[in-house]
Amino acid sequence: MAELDPRLVAMMRNPGSVVHTPHTMQHLAADLHEVCATMGFGIVYQPQVDLRTERVTNFEALIRWHHPDRGDVSPEDFIPLAEQIGLIGKIGQWVLERACRDAMTWPEEVGLAVNVSALQLADPTLPAIVAACLAAAGLPPSRLELEVTETKLMPDRPATLAVLRAIKESGVGIVMDDFDVGYSALGYLLNFPFSKIKIDRSFTDKLPQDDHLHAAANTIVRVISGLCKDLKMTCLAEGVETEEQLAMLMQANCTHVQGYLLGRPQPLPETHATIRDIPNVLRLMNMRCGHSMGDAQQRQTQAIPFMQIAETANDIILVTTPDLDAPGPFIIYVNPAFTRLTGYTAAEVLGRSPRILQGPGTSRATLDHVGETLRAGQPAHAKILNFAKSGAPYWLDMHIVPLCDDDGTVTHFAAIEHDVTLDKRRLDELEQLADRDTLTGIPNRRAFLRAMKAECDAVDVRGLSTSAIKGPCVAFIDIDHFKRINDEHGHAVGDAVLCGIADCLAENVRRVDILGRLGGEEFAVCMPVVTLRDAKALAERLRCAVAGAEFATPAGPVTITVSLGVACYHPGDTIAELIERADGAMYAAKHAGRNRVRVHAPKSDDRVLQAPEPS
Ligand code: C2E
Ligand code: CA
Ligand code: CA
Repeated sequence: MAELDPRLVAMMRNPGSVVHTPHTMQHLAADLHEVCATMGFGIVYQPQVDLRTERVTNFEALIRWHHPDRGDVSPEDFIPLAEQIGLIGKIGQWVLERACRDAMTWPEEVGLAVNVSALQLADPTLPAIVAACLAAAGLPPSRLELEVTETKLMPDRPATLAVLRAIKESGVGIVMDDFDVGYSALGYLLNFPFSKIKIDRSFTDKLPQDDHLHAAANTIVRVISGLCKDLKMTCLAEGVETEEQLAMLMQANCTHVQGYLLGRPQPLPETHATIRDIPNVLRLMNMRCGHSMGDAQQRQTQAIPFMQIAETANDIILVTTPDLDAPGPFIIYVNPAFTRLTGYTAAEVLGRSPRILQGPGTSRATLDHVGETLRAGQPAHAKILNFAKSGAPYWLDMHIVPLCDDDGTVTHFAAIEHDVTLDKRRLDELEQLADRDTLTGIPNRRAFLRAMKAECDAVDVRGLSTSAIKGPCVAFIDIDHFKRINDEHGHAVGDAVLCGIADCLAENVRRVDILGRLGGEEFAVCMPVVTLRDAKALAERLRCAVAGAEFATPAGPVTITVSLGVACYHPGDTIAELIERADGAMYAAKHAGRNRVRVHAPKSDDRVLQAPEPS
């Protein structure tokens, strides 16, 4: 067996170490050889979290060895031994293969970080091994990061650098692990384009001590995170164990954290719940941190209990991540007002997109407009229809504001939403009322003309249906000698007759037809898709129905007749032209002796050619 590294021997003698007598180093090395034959290790995963989006960005794979006699042996003890006895390449490859496969069970926005030892980096075949593991699992290189320990990096070795560069070029991230905040480490940062640096646990440990140290640590973290930003690297603090540390890191603009506070190393099946629950966990901590951060600087703003304001507000407050493209943005905060209106608890919506609140009737155009405005970095305002968990629709007046960091980068969207369902309902009722004829209750002139125009516009868009013989037709209906009734019996009787006729017409039109009172004794029916022959037949039916009815009035039953004029719409007609033709036909009916139907049929009308007016 190779001669042992004095570091290892010292470690073995360390009474605090997990490795105990009577086993000697040689025994442990033999055991390691044995377990390597079957690869009887395990892997646990520890979450790394982005504090801005409150989401898990990666899991770090950490190897585990459960020794039958000694119990769990720390990787800090057996990894150096594996390096020493030439097993690290084999173990490292096994971790990589296995972890890449495991990572495929996570959502695609969650990545994997794997530790590699300095000896692995000295192996020129490492880039090929990494590529093969990725390919075998089907994991894209962009989802993998290799964590390289700063002190073991030896960047002055060209061979190591070449290996790192080749891996980096394949799209895999290279992370500087255990970054010692000291002066010497800065040199490494400039020497190689790392994608992330991990501030060592020993530094995080020192964070909340006396006020003097606190201020210095805050400055150091601020400088490092600023530097990382300039160099386009992520800055992560590891070993975060307390909410106090987390608060200090947040205050110093550190964006990423890892540590027991956010999640212990855990077996694969538990990682899925962690991905789901992290936003909740952080939200709770943020709320508590708001009260525990005792720094003088912060006291002023923290004296204002913003969280309490949000939690007690009557209006909805909803905060999302800044990614506008599906599947984002992701909800990271909702206040209780949200739950009261929608029926969804915070736990049910955190991590999901606000799209779950939309449904049929939510205006696509409004959503697009809101999206465009936010994309331009502007606040958006809209009224929108959403749906509660029960499926009940509700209207919101919503203001969405992009929230930015010091550099103007959008970090969140905050929506403040007011429930306007009642206002909207009243408005709809008012609009309905404005569209009704107050006497008869059927659509008034304004509503009728609008509906008829919509029918005609639809024809202009889609063309006339079934070989150009069906289209909208309109019948004008005028009560014969109505003036006489008013003069002889008074207005109350006249009104009763108008109501009776409106009812009679309503009963005899088809469901698709639109009936309206144009004013005085004039009514009209718009028949959307008919031939001229059918339109005339329907008009005839209406005429007969009125003529055959008796209308109850204060002066007793009254019988009466109507004259009707029918015209059909030609694409390109104005509504005024169509009305004029129908009106003309109605007067022709009056002149011909009343109580009859006349059709306006110009020679050029091919629908008339196919459906000549019955004599
Ligand atoms: P590391 O890469 O710095 O990993 C972080 C270590 O800190 C892990 O210990 C982790 O359990 C521990 N840790 C995480 N959060 C906290 C915290 O809040 N407080 C405290 N006190 N500790 C925390 P672990 O798993 O014992 O790993 C120790 C070292 O062993 C790792 O340090 C890494 O250098 C090495 N290692 C682990 N797995 C592998 C591997 O698969 N390959 C290689 N080459 N090295 C590995
Ligand atoms: Ca690591
Ligand atoms: Ca580390």
